[in-house]
Order: sequence, then C-alpha cells, then structure tokens
Amino acid sequence: MQENDQAQQGSQMTRETGQVNVPILPLRNIVFFPGQIMPLFVGRPSSVRLIEEAHQAQRPVLVLTQRDSSVDSPHTADLYTKGTVVRVVKIYTMPDGSKSVVVQGQYRAEFLRMTDEEPYLTGDIQPLEEEIPSIEDVEVSALVSNIRQQLKKLEQLLPDSNPEQLNLIMNTQEAETFAFLVAAMLNLPVPEKQELLETMDMKEFLNKLVVALSKIIQRQELSQKIQAEVQDSINKAQREYFLREQLRAIKKELGEEKDQLEVDELKKKLEDIDMPEEVREVAEKELNRLSVMSPAAAEYGVTRNYLDWLLEMPWKVSTEDNLEISAVKKQLDTDHYGLENVKNRILEFLAVRKLKNDMRGPILCFVGPPGVGKTSLGRSIAEAMGRKYVRFSLGGVRDEAEIRGHRRTYIGALPGRVIQSIKKAGSNNPVMVLDEIDKVGMDFRGDPTSALLEVLDPEQNVHFSDHYLEVPFDLSNVLFIATANTLDTIQPALRDRMEIIEIPSYILDEKVHIARQHLLPKQREEHGISGKQLVMSDDVISDIIDRYTRESGVRNLERKLADVCRGAALRIAEGKAKRVTVKKEDLPDYISSRKYYPEVAERITSPGIATGLAWTPVGGDILFIEATKMKGKGRLTITGQVRDVMKESVQAAMSYISANAKELGVPENFRDTLDIHVHVPAGAVPKDGPSAGVTMLTSLTSLLTGRVVRNDLGMTGEITLRGQVLPIGGIKEKVLAAHRAGLKAVMMPKRNEDDLKEIPESVRKEITFHLVERMDEVLEIALPKKGRKSESTKKSVETREENS
Ligand code: ADP
Repeated sequence: MQENDQAQQGSQMTRETGQVNVPILPLRNIVFFPGQIMPLFVGRPSSVRLIEEAHQAQRPVLVLTQRDSSVDSPHTADLYTKGTVVRVVKIYTMPDGSKSVVVQGQYRAEFLRMTDEEPYLTGDIQPLEEEIPSIEDVEVSALVSNIRQQLKKLEQLLPDSNPEQLNLIMNTQEAETFAFLVAAMLNLPVPEKQELLETMDMKEFLNKLVVALSKIIQRQELSQKIQAEVQDSINKAQREYFLREQLRAIKKELGEEKDQLEVDELKKKLEDIDMPEEVREVAEKELNRLSVMSPAAAEYGVTRNYLDWLLEMPWKVSTEDNLEISAVKKQLDTDHYGLENVKNRILEFLAVRKLKNDMRGPILCFVGPPGVGKTSLGRSIAEAMGRKYVRFSLGGVRDEAEIRGHRRTYIGALPGRVIQSIKKAGSNNPVMVLDEIDKVGMDFRGDPTSALLEVLDPEQNVHFSDHYLEVPFDLSNVLFIATANTLDTIQPALRDRMEIIEIPSYILDEKVHIARQHLLPKQREEHGISGKQLVMSDDVISDIIDRYTRESGVRNLERKLADVCRGAALRIAEGKAKRVTVKKEDLPDYISSRKYYPEVAERITSPGIATGLAWTPVGGDILFIEATKMKGKGRLTITGQVRDVMKESVQAAMSYISANAKELGVPENFRDTLDIHVHVPAGAVPKDGPSAGVTMLTSLTSLLTGRVVRNDLGMTGEITLRGQVLPIGGIKEKVLAAHRAGLKAVMMPKRNEDDLKEIPESVRKEITFHLVERMDEVLEIALPKKGRKSESTKKSVETREENS
C-alpha cells in the first residue's frame, strides 16, 4: 500500500496494481469518482471507526454505493461491487459527535471478497484496468470539447451552479480526470452514475456523458420554457389584477365604487336571461361600454336605461294558450250579457286560429259606441285564453314615435307604446287592446298609421323594430284587438287588416239585464255591500237608465249605480240601516247629477223646431233643428258647427220651399223680406251629413207656415231638390236613440225599410214607423193641419193654438 500525502488534487492519484485488502465504506446516494474531493458525513459508529483508523494508518478505503439507500447496516450483497478507492484527507468532528471527513477519489476498483465483518467491513479488492486515453486522440478531443460546450450552455441554464467547481473542471486538461469530474458533478440517478463508473472504455464514458448532458440540457430548457410561460401568464394575471385594483381605488376615490357593483349585477342578470343571440350581443356591447363610463357622464344614464329595457323585455317568456272554445265561451258569457252575434264571431275567429294552429292572421276590431263592452270583451278573451292583458289608447296619437319610440339620441327617449305594453305584460304573447284606433291623427310628425300597419301586419311584425330598442322584437304571437267608434275615419289600409265586428247600442231592456247581472254586483262588491244589504227593483234601474243617463252603452249607468252603492254603504256604515231598499223617489238622494227629462215635448213649443235623428260615433242621438225668422233681405245664417254637407241640405230645403211656396202655403216672395237663421243646438259638437235634410225642410216649412211640428216624432232622411226622400245609414242606432228619448213615432225613408229588421222586437212594438218617399208625405205627417188632433199631438196642438 502506497501513500501520497501530497495527493491534494484530483490529478494526483496513487494507485495499487495488484490485489489489496482495504476497509469498505458503504455510501448512500453517492457514487464517488476518482479525482473527486468531497466531504462526507459519517454517522454510523462502525464507519466513524473505519475512517479514524484508516486516517491514522494512512490506509486507502474502498467506497461502494448502496444499491438500496434505505438499508441501515448493509452487507456486501447490498452494495455495488465496483467503486472508488479513496484517501482520507482530513477529519472534522462535528458538535454532535458525528464526523465530517474529506476524502479524495484515487482509482476505480472491484470488490472481490469479504475478509472481515467486524469492527467494519474489510475485503480484498482488485484495481480496475483502464486505458488512459490521450487527449491527442481526435475522437476523444472532439468529445471533450463537445462536453465543454455543453457545460457552458448548462452554466447559462443554471445560473446558480457552482462557478468554482465548473472552473476547476474547465481547467482540467487530462481527459480521464475531466470525464470523472464531469460525471461526479452531474445530477444523475444513482444507477446511471454507477453505470458510468463501471464504464471502463473512456470513449464510451465520454459518449455517455454527452448523452446525459444533452438530456439534462433539454430538460432544463424545457423546464425553463415552461417556467417562462407560467411566469408570463402569472405576470399577465397579476398585471390585470393590479390595474383593476388601481381602477377600483380611483373609482372609490371618485365615489363611483357602487357602480361597479351595478355593472356586476347587470352582468349577472344578462347571463341568467334567455334572449336571442343578436340581442345578447348588443347587450354585452352596451354593458362593456357602461363598465368604462363614469356614472357622472350624461351617457351613463342613457346606456343604463337602455340596458334595463333590453334586460326586462320578455324575449322568450310566453304564456300557454288555452284554446278550449267551450272555456272561452263560458268566460265571455260570464262577463257579458247578450251580444250573441259578437260572441259567436269571436269564437269563430278563435276556432279558426286553433285549427290552423297559428295565432297570426287578421286583427279583431270591435266597432261600436262607447260603453258597449268593447274593451272589456278584450279582457275576457285574454282571461279565457290564459293570456296577459294590456291596452293602450291611440286616441289623439299623432306622432309616429308614440308607436315606434324615439331614437336614443333624443333626450328622454323611450320605446313606443307597443314595446312599453309588452314589457308591462311581461310575456311576448299578450292580448293587446288598441283602443280608439279610429282616432289616430296624422301631422308633420309622421304618420302613426304606417307604424301601426307594421305592428299589425303578420308578415312584418315578426321583426318589429322600435326606434329606441333598435333590435327587432317578435310581435307575431301577440293577439291584437282594436276598438273603434266608427269605421269612417280608419284608414282603408288599416281597415283591410282587420276583421270588423260591430257592437250595437243597447236597448233599455238589455241595459236593465246588464245592470242587474253585471254592473250592480260588480259595484256592490267594490263598495263592500252584500246582495241582501241593497235591494233595488228593475223598475228603479229602468228609472236610472231613463232619467239619469242618455247613452248607447252602459258606462254612465255603471257610474250611477256606483253612486247608489256609495250612498247605501254610507247609510249602512253609519248604522242608520242594516239593509237599504232604494225606491224611485229616493234616487235624487243618491245620484247628484242632473236628470234627463223627456224634453222633446217641452222643446217643441213653437213653429220652426223639428226633431231629427242623428248617427254619431258615440251612438244614435236626437238632434233639434231650430229655425227663426226676422225682417231682412233674404239672408240665410246657419250656426251650431254645421259642416258643408249639412249646410247644403239647408240650401236645398230653402230652394225646395221657394219653388213650392204656393202648395206649401208659404208667402211666395218670403226671401225678399225675411232673414232666416237656422241653428242646430249642442253647438260644440260638429255636425255633418245629408240625413238631416228632411228635418231641415220640416223645420223651415213649420217656421214659414206657422204650423208646429209633432212633438213625438223623430225624423231622418236626405232630400232632393225635387222633393224626394233618399235612404240614409245608421237606422238602427237612430231608432234606438228615438226610443231612448221617448219618441213614439219615427219617420224615415221608405227605402230603408229593410233596416227595421235589425231593431229589437220590443222597441219596434213601441214605435210607429212612417216610411216616406216624398217631401209632401213628410209634411203631411209632421205638420198636422189645424183641427186634426191625435192623442199624441194633442199637447202640441194646444200649444200651437196658444201661440197663434
Ligand atoms: P267600451 O270599450 O265599448 O267603451 P267598456 O268595455 O269600457 O266599453 O265597458 C264599460 C263597462 O260596461 C264595463 O264595465 C263593462 O264590463 C260593462 N259592459 C258593457 N257591456 C256589457 C255587457 N254586455 N255585459 C256586461 N257588462 C257590460
């Protein structure tokens, strides 16, 4: 055994040639290479002793790596058989008694056999034969320089690698030592390192190093790349986080923090709502705009409002239809008395929709005077079908924007009434009642009719576009019902879209039924009165209708009944009565407003006054025509908001009288000495139409002959210059009005005879009809000659006699 105390450097190695007997030091996790100098921590007592004795005796030691690092007292079988012979250079004693020992690798050797087990392993070993490669060898030098480059690269990749160690390696010229130092330095798994240690061919050794190094470099590069990517994404997220935090801080400073919450809330709401993709895109865009806007900006409110509309429209919310015809019929019958024809038409309309399985199609339009139940029929239909009900009035709407909304650029812009109503309904298939469609106006602000046409056209309303909303809304599932008082003023294009259902005025009898079955119970309930607490006979109801209302429908009647209920409720609440029985004579106590008197008889007191029958959009009515004369030069004045056609009737009547003065018993040249004034009272209401011709002529003839007109007679009819009576429209409403006013006779054109069929039997029985073709017949009937007294004219004749 030789020693070399100067052997401090890896290059200076001593080596045995033959078999020697040395102590064996097992190592965990470390493969020791020749030339390597390294401190080892020695803990096992046997190892401590081995080291100390070897150091003292300057004896070399063979270090062998454990195959399994977990074994505590390894036997020879637990150790690799090839290892490195080391020299113990120095021993340090640690504070806890363990030893740190610096050893230097000398040469590789193979363990042959164990010679001693105690106090530590000792065995015979054989140095391994190795060929010392020359650095001159081209292949070796190429491999070495390759490894050097790889090491440099690795140095860059491993910024915290030990530079001194690397320096030492780089400066090592000798190929073998260089290879051992590189191998020692590499962080490889124990089996791989052991394999290197056992590789005796140096070229193969170097080759293995190259492969191992490239693997390490590759792994390192990859991990750096991954790390860079991770870092990148972390950086980005962090950056955003910081910016957001800063923004939040700024907003907080400006007192705008709350609005972030608002935006978040809107975002959440948007996620939860089912809406068409197109709308969602718009909403998201607006929301993004909102999130960067200052709430102080004027536009913030506008955008916020707009978003609210988008979020609150029932884009995909609809109710399920009940198209059970019998159920609808039942509902209509429960809510409305009579109206059989109307109800049938409604049921037919719905039946067709049901069979076609399509709610699109013409729009229903109820036409009739006020208070006949047009709107409430709409509500019943909605209720029966299980749909939501909304209504709005088109009366006086002149601006297209009312229907279709204002563009958002206008201050305070809103969607039109259609979209507003849809939002109110909360479903996209409500029954929508468009009231007073006959009163849509038109002026410079645009024509609402064209917007209405679009709303009501099943072809177009799938994509109805409101100026405010901008995104189309599908109106095709809405059931539109229009109401009107008259068809005359509805634009033809609009009228064509609609299925017209006329609802006539009610007669007294019907009104009594409606009052008893519907209005009174409704009002009682609203005033908290039970049926037993308020007793009212049909007679009393008739009296209310006759003397306190004059209308085609039942709207005022309902109000008067409310008056009665209110009065009764007061009496009951005050404890004055437990049960109130209302009699005719009590009515003035309950109903304050003015009574209607059967005024016809009282008004027709002198020549020149005649009772006409008129048709108006609010139903039939009676209308007085008064003519008076004064000294003058033939001037004719007409007052009372009389329009052109009616004025012409007056002219025609005057001409007829002039031409037939003699036969009529009128002074022939009356036009030279008299001024005549024709007035049609109720001067605030515009009047027009040719059907007052007969009445005009009667009034003027009465004035000029001094004969008073029959006071129980209402008349209607157009006249010609030749004295013919031409047919006119609205007979039914006119007759009902005459009946309401208490007239006993109606004079009308013979050619309207067919229209009498429409008049209820009960009314027909109470009225005498005079069907006339010529004016002389009219005058014959309307102006009884002196002395001809009939029951009904007795009073007027007496009056006339007083006046004459
Ligand atoms: P319109 O729309 O034709 O002006 P409304 O629908 O407003 O009339 O009707 C006025 C009131 O009269 C409502 O309370 C309605 O229920 C009631 N009404 C009208 N016609 C009838 C009827 N045939 N049966 C029961 N109630 C009726």
